Amino acid sequence: MVDERILEIKNYIGGDFIDSPRGDFLGVFEPATGRQFASAPLSDASDVDIAVEAARTAQPSWGALGIRERADWLERIADALEERHEEVASLESRDTGKPISLARSVDATRSVSNFRFFAEMLRSQDQEVFEMADASNFVVNKPVGVGALITPWNLPLYLLSWKIAPAIGMGNSVVCKPSELTPMTADLLMRVFDEIGLPEGVVNLVHGDGIGAGSPLVSHPGVDFVSFTGGTSTGGKVAASAAPSFKKLSLELGGKNSSIVFSDCDMQSAVSGVARAGFLNQGQVCLCGSRILVEGSIYGEFRERFVRHVEQMKVGDPSNEGTELGALISRDHLEKVLGYVELAKEEGGKILTGGSRCSPDGFEGGNWMLPTVIEGVGADSRCATEEIFGPLVTLHSFESEEEALGIANNTRYGLAGSVWTGDLERGRSFSEKMETGMVWVNSWLHRDLRAPFGGVKDSGVGREGGRWSLGFFSEAMNVCVKRD
Ligand code: NDP
Repeated sequence: MVDERILEIKNYIGGDFIDSPRGDFLGVFEPATGRQFASAPLSDASDVDIAVEAARTAQPSWGALGIRERADWLERIADALEERHEEVASLESRDTGKPISLARSVDATRSVSNFRFFAEMLRSQDQEVFEMADASNFVVNKPVGVGALITPWNLPLYLLSWKIAPAIGMGNSVVCKPSELTPMTADLLMRVFDEIGLPEGVVNLVHGDGIGAGSPLVSHPGVDFVSFTGGTSTGGKVAASAAPSFKKLSLELGGKNSSIVFSDCDMQSAVSGVARAGFLNQGQVCLCGSRILVEGSIYGEFRERFVRHVEQMKVGDPSNEGTELGALISRDHLEKVLGYVELAKEEGGKILTGGSRCSPDGFEGGNWMLPTVIEGVGADSRCATEEIFGPLVTLHSFESEEEALGIANNTRYGLAGSVWTGDLERGRSFSEKMETGMVWVNSWLHRDLRAPFGGVKDSGVGREGGRWSLGFFSEAMNVCVKRD
């Protein structure tokens, strides 16, 4: 029997769960069925004011705690979240349409490890001192103050925890604004904070849309820094409204990433690795490799094996263990991705597989699309250079490293890439010439949380991850003590 109750979630401000006083709500829909299953407050600037005030009130005493005490809080959060592993996974799968196996292995697992990782990092911070002949320079890492954390819908809790853990770990308080499309696990995390008694006001959360809640949060005079993950055009607006008050800013934006397959690769692992890079989370990961460049001498064989592999991927009920591709996030997004299929045809593309909606049994109202492989569009066509953010990849062939590099670097984006070759030295030197923030050789999305994460060009400003996160979420002050 289907549970038709509509779950009602609230804002979390100053340690209380509260509705927006105006009583306006957003519907929250299951991507797999198209049915509404929850509602969230449609907050506005007045709700943001209260949340920022709560964060400002909480920050001084939270920031005054020792770094080890704050690390202990992160550890407690990780423990409590870990106990809810299955609840997190099933709620995230329901809210985003992603397969349950992915929600378990990535979203539920990684949000716990984000808190644990930063707890460990905080504990291992040493006092940095630069000695001179007659003086010592002591580096003090102070909190920045109150932060706005704004996150997208594709990896809701994963990305929120990636920001909250280092932000509060460094002594800041925050106001979060999750995507209106996927607010559910953010609410679950607030319930975890409430349950373990995290001091009130350290983390606040305002639901709502980008214009009504996100925009006033970013421009709020009581906000000192903004960590934003989302699309490039929204990132531009966020940067413009944060700039007049010189807010510290980190922008993790869109990508159009290349997977480059050389003829000396291990064909089998390249086929499955490139398919994973293209279609994980229905292609809705900023790092997804949606332009696949294959050396001419193996192009025919790779294409054949790749298309066969993609055709065997299981699309369907997100709650089934064996499902590999779930539903797209929304009807609008599905239409946008399908629009690129039409554009590809106009640009001379040939659909090798997919290219249309699908409708798994029992999920007729959802946002479903077959994984799609297209060849024949130019490497500089719109399909091959614009971020589509769906289960659609284009194939291109190249004849030399120079040509491959030219194609890979010929987009406005510069987030990530992967290189597939049997020659690790070549893989490394080729990668270093790519205009991106991250490249994997013979793998993709193999993450070490200590490593820098972020993009160049229109893919973002700044880096997060490991010490880069701790650096962004703090202000380094130097105290120079001169000896007699
Ligand atoms: P959006 O840019 O549409 O939204 C991101 C967040 O910003 C949402 O919470 C949104 O709210 C909010 N927002 C929208 N307008 C404003 C505004 N004017 N001021 C402040 N906040 C605003 O991105 P999507 O949610 O569609 O996410 C997909 C994008 O995110 C892709 O481009 C993807 O590449 C990128 N991304 C980048 C990553 C990276 O690390 N580089 C990682 C993951 C995704 P609402 O949803 O309610 O409108």
